[in-house]
Amino acid sequence: MIIDVHGHYTTAPAALGAWRDLQIAGLKDPSQTPSAADLKISDDEIRETIETNQLRLMKERGSDLTIFSPRASFMAHHIGDFQTSSTWAAICNELCYRVSQLFPEHFIPAAMLPQSPGVDPKTCIPELVKCVEQYGNVGLNLNPDPSGGHWTSPPLSDKSWYPIYEKMVEYDIPAMIHVSTSCNSCFHTTGSHYLNADTTAFMQCLTSDLFKDFPTLKFLIPHGGGAVPYHWGLFRGLAQEMKKPLLEEHLLNNIFFDTCVYHQPGINLLTEVVPTKNILFASEMIGAVRGIDPQTGHYYDDTKRYIEATQNLTAEEKHQVYEGNARRVFTRLDAALKAKGL
Ligand SMILES: [Zn+2]
Repeated sequence: MIIDVHGHYTTAPAALGAWRDLQIAGLKDPSQTPSAADLKISDDEIRETIETNQLRLMKERGSDLTIFSPRASFMAHHIGDFQTSSTWAAICNELCYRVSQLFPEHFIPAAMLPQSPGVDPKTCIPELVKCVEQYGNVGLNLNPDPSGGHWTSPPLSDKSWYPIYEKMVEYDIPAMIHVSTSCNSCFHTTGSHYLNADTTAFMQCLTSDLFKDFPTLKFLIPHGGGAVPYHWGLFRGLAQEMKKPLLEEHLLNNIFFDTCVYHQPGINLLTEVVPTKNILFASEMIGAVRGIDPQTGHYYDDTKRYIEATQNLTAEEKHQVYEGNARRVFTRLDAALKAKGL
């Protein structure tokens, strides 16, 4: 089985974006604020958007199951207040749950949280509980920067995040560290802000003793870990100067990387530098880069081709990357598959 641990509902029906536009307009003119019930999306519309997009590509490229969360750039936690994010997260999570109900063989949901700048992260817990207990979510996306590029929140090692970690440990669910749209014009959303955040999250963990407090906490850093694999020597050297343990012991029981890296040399580097047990297959398809690479004639985000072609992984190691590691990190996914006899 090939499990893609990083998919978003980037192709949701246009009514979702129109509802969000009204919600944003309502921040200035409350008479325009829509209710959640005003959003009407039929099962047929959901089927259409999935079958012609993600599911079609999964079949063409040969992946079986995607961990599916709301569109990351749409989370836009910086907009409005907690109530704004709360209503929006509930709507987006329900849609991904419906996708998972309509296509149970191919999609399993992960949650976005109703984060809001300056608001205590523990306010996200009721939505998280609902998503895990009622919707069967197997993971969540945690935004280390709800301000959208201004980095006004304390680092991930700060105790204000701990209530979320306590719930993650209780449920044994991992968090993908995932920012949203940049509203800081210095940072392009996917080209700068996403990769900055991946690198920053790793460094926040490196400088702290977070995983001493939470030995079973699991973070998935997407986009191949940002700059981390490329600068592995720098991170090792900094850890050494800070008298931290070796990275394998300090971070690699808790931090994992996905394969959303869109060229062969990048995947070669990732698989050479990072232990195989810490690498999970993912494509983030129909996401940041949607075009075809003229050098290869294939889609940039068809990442399975790079895994297949790399000389750094044996057949058994590829199996770990495609399935074994995902089942070990996302234990609720493993349990859901086992319940189906898979
Ligand atoms: Zn993503």
